[in-house]
Amino acid sequence: MSPALSHALVWFPVAAVVAVGMELWAALLHGRVWHSWLWRVHRSHHEPRTGRWEWNDALALFHAPIAIALILYGCASEPGVLREIAFGVGVGMTAFALGYIVVHDGLVHGRLPVQFLNRFKVMRRIARAHRVHHTVASGGRPYGLFFGAWELARASRVKQQHARRPSSARPTSPIARRA
Ligand SMILES: [Zn+2]
Ligand SMILES: [Zn+2]
Repeated sequence: MSPALSHALVWFPVAAVVAVGMELWAALLHGRVWHSWLWRVHRSHHEPRTGRWEWNDALALFHAPIAIALILYGCASEPGVLREIAFGVGVGMTAFALGYIVVHDGLVHGRLPVQFLNRFKVMRRIARAHRVHHTVASGGRPYGLFFGAWELARASRVKQQHARRPSSARPTSPIARRA
């Protein structure tokens, strides 16, 4: 087996797992941080854009230095598994970021000429789900992008299950329980 192939057998699966994991991490950050502590910055993404940029773009730069450092470490350090893993993590983060920019900023918000992606059903589904996030000024589910439709379906299933549950089985507030 060539060394390049044996290296790819380590870094490629790592990159694939990290790219998927980044969707979950991004959804968590979006819901728990962007829409709470950093709402002052993220709000610019939920208001009509006046120029080419919005303050929210700064949040996209959070992970770039980490991904760049990991890729550089993966390219320049001593050969070994650690180096391949670092490279894979950096590549996975970068792949997710590029996908996010193209689909979120480009397709959904029309900031890049990528409307041809609308030909694909999966892309239309992703865009539709993200538009739900923008239906109210303060945003709401889904916080994820690529799994947004799945997140919405799951939330509605939970809501239906809760609605179907008999009122006596529903959890009561601590005050009601104490009474
Ligand atoms: Zn958006
Ligand atoms: Zn948002």
